[in-house]
Amino acid sequence: MNSSLPTYEDVVQASQRLEGIAHRTPVLTSSSLDAGLGAQVFFKCENLQRIGAFKFRGGYNALAKLDNEQRQAGVVAFSSGNHAQAVALAARMLDIKATIVMPHDAPAAKKAATQGYGAHVVEYDRHNQDREEVAHALMQAQGLTLIPPFNHPDVIAGQGTAVKELLEETGGLDALFIPLGGGGLLSGSLLAAHAINPDCAVYGVEPEAGNDGQQSFRKGEVIRIAAPDSIADGALTQALGSLTFPIIRQHARDILTVSDQQLLQALRFFAERMKIVVEPTGCLGAAAAFNEIAPVRGKRIGVLLSGGNVDLAAYSDYLKTA
Ligand SMILES: *Cc1c(COP(=O)(O)O)cnc(C)c1O
Repeated sequence: MNSSLPTYEDVVQASQRLEGIAHRTPVLTSSSLDAGLGAQVFFKCENLQRIGAFKFRGGYNALAKLDNEQRQAGVVAFSSGNHAQAVALAARMLDIKATIVMPHDAPAAKKAATQGYGAHVVEYDRHNQDREEVAHALMQAQGLTLIPPFNHPDVIAGQGTAVKELLEETGGLDALFIPLGGGGLLSGSLLAAHAINPDCAVYGVEPEAGNDGQQSFRKGEVIRIAAPDSIADGALTQALGSLTFPIIRQHARDILTVSDQQLLQALRFFAERMKIVVEPTGCLGAAAAFNEIAPVRGKRIGVLLSGGNVDLAAYSDYLKTA
């Protein structure tokens, strides 16, 4: 695997690869929100991206860069979330065989969605088997290429294309709020923002319970934490990656945290006021801006809404309890 750090040039090439393939997602605003916050807020709606999350960008970019031999052998990913669906759809579009390794108790809807995109799902027992070992065994037996969810230069470059589009559309922004799990989205966004709008303060936002990124940023080294518990199920990673951390360390202004309660309030705001479904993880950046965890008054702010995939029964509970 190519393990050198990606650059803005890689983001530009990814955006050319994704042209006409990924949706150029809309940028929404709310004048009542702006009046209340005393700011101008631009929401980049990756909840309306293909598969319902930005992860299609990185997944497609990584698969499109494989050579013929790799394409013929196929790819493998381990994920029960948005990365699985991203790899499955991109593989179908590029006529590549995809194998997705999922826990046997993953929600049936997620398994069905991944299979619906034509991927082959291999289940493993979360309690007795290590998913990386399962994936590595498949790689060796079948010559598959592993597509990691965040720590890969082509995945990072693909994820950076959303902020590139946002900044091209809005012009200069004072600050950007980006959801943070393993850091693929944040590091790609930083490459784009640093090149296009170097004065923009870019913040990564994590769930309070899973603040490994904040600890790592402040300590200057990757800190690994125990499996966190939060409704932000797309940001429960235990550590940043060897490629994402150096970019975050170099260019991010800070890493912020928000509570599950703040995520629920944001989720409800999007449903009630903006008529859009945003999953809890997708609300991380918005919750930090709404609660002014970093300065927003008088500023032009970009907020990345990273995804909208949420089980409907859970969503209706979230709306009731917010
Ligand atoms: C994966 C994901 C994230 C976190 O992205 P990283 O690249 O791992 O930091 C945030 N929001 C949603 C909706 C996701 O699917």
